[in-house]
Order: sequence, then structure tokens, then C-alpha cells
Amino acid sequence: MAEYEAVIGLEVHLHLKTKTKAFCGCSTEFGKEPNSQTCPVCLGLPGSLPVFNRTVLDYAIKVALALNCEVQRFTKFDRKNYFYPDLPKNYQISQYDLPLSKNGFINIDTESGVKRIGITRVHIEEDAGKLIHTDDSSLVDFNRTGIPLLEIVSEPDINSPQEAHQYLVNLKNIIQYLDVSDCDMEKGSLRCDANISLRPRGEKMLGIKAELKNMNSFKGVKDALTYEIRRQAELMESRKEIIQETRLWDEKGLKTVPMRTKEGAKDYRYFPEPDLPPFIISEEKIKEIRGTIPELPHTKYTRFIQEYGLSEYDAKILVSSKEDAFFAEECFRAYGEKDKKLLVNWLIGPLLSEANSRNLNISALKITAGSLLNLLVFLERNEISNLTAKAVLTDMLDSGKSAAAIIQEKGLVQISDSNALKEIALQVISENPKSVSDYKSGKENALMFLVGQLMRKSKGKANPKVAKELLKENLDA
Ligand SMILES: [Zn+2]
Repeated sequence: MAEYEAVIGLEVHLHLKTKTKAFCGCSTEFGKEPNSQTCPVCLGLPGSLPVFNRTVLDYAIKVALALNCEVQRFTKFDRKNYFYPDLPKNYQISQYDLPLSKNGFINIDTESGVKRIGITRVHIEEDAGKLIHTDDSSLVDFNRTGIPLLEIVSEPDINSPQEAHQYLVNLKNIIQYLDVSDCDMEKGSLRCDANISLRPRGEKMLGIKAELKNMNSFKGVKDALTYEIRRQAELMESRKEIIQETRLWDEKGLKTVPMRTKEGAKDYRYFPEPDLPPFIISEEKIKEIRGTIPELPHTKYTRFIQEYGLSEYDAKILVSSKEDAFFAEECFRAYGEKDKKLLVNWLIGPLLSEANSRNLNISALKITAGSLLNLLVFLERNEISNLTAKAVLTDMLDSGKSAAAIIQEKGLVQISDSNALKEIALQVISENPKSVSDYKSGKENALMFLVGQLMRKSKGKANPKVAKELLKENLDA
């Protein structure tokens, strides 16, 4: 397989989370009773007319700008004609020759450095309904019909399943920062198809491609591509023909199976949508929407490293969720000028693992930046051990109580005050004459034994460092 190069392009379909559908006033809420969110427009009844949802355009421009695309000033809708039971109109409103935007890119990290993946176009279209197949029948739910979609088409710049995966992770991360889609693959609000062909390394001409569908997770995309590279390489090795076709990923069988020979654009008989006029996007509109784009993950990543001295690794983890990055920054600001290492270790360590075990983001945990920092103060003053602090954190998240209240209630504070420990130290010395003489004759181990005795007498609450110093001081005196 080392003789072949894979050429991969990805097509991502993204639901925009508008309140109503793209061309009618029906609700887009997920999980409602089948066919309860329909009207003459999205059911394609004769005489009904579409009205374009303004928010769809705003969200679409926002995504296009964040993906470094050129937003076209003049754009229009087209009808893509095909018959399918989930498409009551027998056509889908889409965009063909004058898409909303084109020529964008996103960067991904690869083993050989940063790689730019081109984005051919981002255009607006509407979703079809959903077919549900049971043992003896097929059912159709039109609630999804007409939900606004963005189609984001990459250039065939991707050369491995790993790069495809990284592209999807970065794309999803950017979209989540924009807050225009749930990006939930399980609910179908983010879907991905892939085009893949192989060619001998060094060859410029593209091979014959297969289109892969039905991948339900980013891992599914990676697995399907890995399988397909092997399948195509084997065909080429045995000089068999590769046919242009659409193949379905079989998640259980871990293989791709033929679905249909691929239709070309001419089969869809595209023509301009006569019920929607072309429209012009003004410079002011583009400027206004550019102003609503928040700091995107990569910029935040760079800033976290420069401004707060984070490592690349730590910064990458923290910016992978917009909410967590916000929470982290709130903590950094409240922490002031101090070195951030302890704080960062707590954010990506105990806090992140608590969040994962509760299936939440850090930001959704019952803790504020202030209450986390209060817990860390006890650690910094050596008043509790690291292990105790972790237990206190779990308790804080369960009960919503403050660190101080929990430490007080459970009597967890270490005793670091040497006056408070002096009496116990003297008691330990008088009760262990053998160890004392051992220590005086130069046996260092004897001191550790005495520290252990002091710890026992204090029921584990003595600060071991203070205890050791105190004993040494009294023995040497
Ligand atoms: Zn409707």
C-alpha cells in the first residue's frame, strides 16, 4: 500500500440550529412526534411558496467567514431534482453554480507539521425527511424535511484517514465556537460523506473515486477510509477495474458495501429555483456578521500559550471545548500573576476527570472559578494533602458546599503550627528512648520512625514536614 497515495475529499452536512425551518415556519425541535412539525411548504403541497429564513443566511455567512471563505455578493438557489420517498417535493432546494461562498481553508496538525486543507465551497440547502425501516414496513418522518443545512465541501487535499479525522475534529471545534449548530452526529445534526480514490505515488492524475456514506461517528469515517484504501489497493494490485460508485459503511461488518453507481450532476437536472429570487449580500452585512465571530480555537490556543505560559499540550486540551476554555480563562484571571502550573494541572487533571465521569463539560460542573481557587489555597498553604484535596473536590461537586466548609466539617486540616504540635513531639521523644539514642548515634532512620509516631498520635493531621523539623530541633537541642 506504500506505493499508493490516497486522495480524500470530505463533504460535511451541518444542521443549523435555527428555531424554524429554512423555508417555512415549522419548528426544528428534535425528537417530537413524527410528522407533527410539517406544513404545506415542507410537505411540497401544490401552490405553497417558500420564504427564506433570514437567520439561516446569517449563520451560513458566519460559518463561511470562520472557514476563511470568500462570501459571494450575488447568490441564488437551485432545484436539485430526484425522487425519493423522504423527499415529498421531488426536489431539494440547494445551490449549484452560484454558491454562497468558496475558496476557504482550515489548518490541521499532522506528523509533518501544519497542513492547510482547502474548502471548495460552503452552500445552503434543505434536509430531506427521515426513513425508518421496521421488519415489515418502511415509515417516513417529515419533521426533518426543510431543516436548514450547510454543505461544507473540502478540496481533495486530505491524504490519510488520520488527516480526515483531524480535519473533522477542527471543523467541529470551530463550528461549536460559532454556536450555530449542535454538531451532534448521533442526532444527525452533523453528517459526513467521503470521496476517496488512490493513485500511484508521484502520479498527478486522479484515480476513480468511490463515495462513502453512512458513517455515524468520526471514528466510523476513519475506519471506513482505512478499509476503502485497502480494498482499492487490492483491486489495483490485481489489475481489476475500480468503478465509480456510492458505497455504504457497514459498521457491524466493518466494511463498505456497494449502494448504487454514482450519478453525476447532470442527472439532477439542476435549474434556478423559480420561487426564490437571487439575492445580493452587501458589504455591510458581511462586516456586521464578521463582528459577531468570537475568538476561534486556534487564536485562543496561541493566546493561552503566550499570555498564561501554558504548554502546547495543556492549551490544546483546554481550547477543545469553548465552555471549558472560558472557564479556564476565568480561573487564570482570578489567579493573578502566580505561575499557572498547579491550576492548569487541576483543570486538566482532577476537574476534567470528574467532568468525564459525569459526562459533562468542566463548565457544567457545580463549581465556580472562585470556589476552585479557594480549594487550591488550602493546597498552596500545605494545609491539606493532594489526595485530600481530590476527595474534597468530589465532595464539593456532589454537595455544592465550599472547600472551607467541607474541610472544617470533616476536620481535614493539616496541623502546620509548630506550637500546636510541640507537646506531641515532646511526648513522642520521652516515650521512645531507644529511637532517640539511635538517632543520636547517627541512625537517620530513627527520625523517620519518630515522625511516624507523631503522625499516629495526631491522627494523620500533622503536616509531616513540620513534624520532622520539630522533632529534629528538639532532639538536636
Ligand atoms: Zn413546514
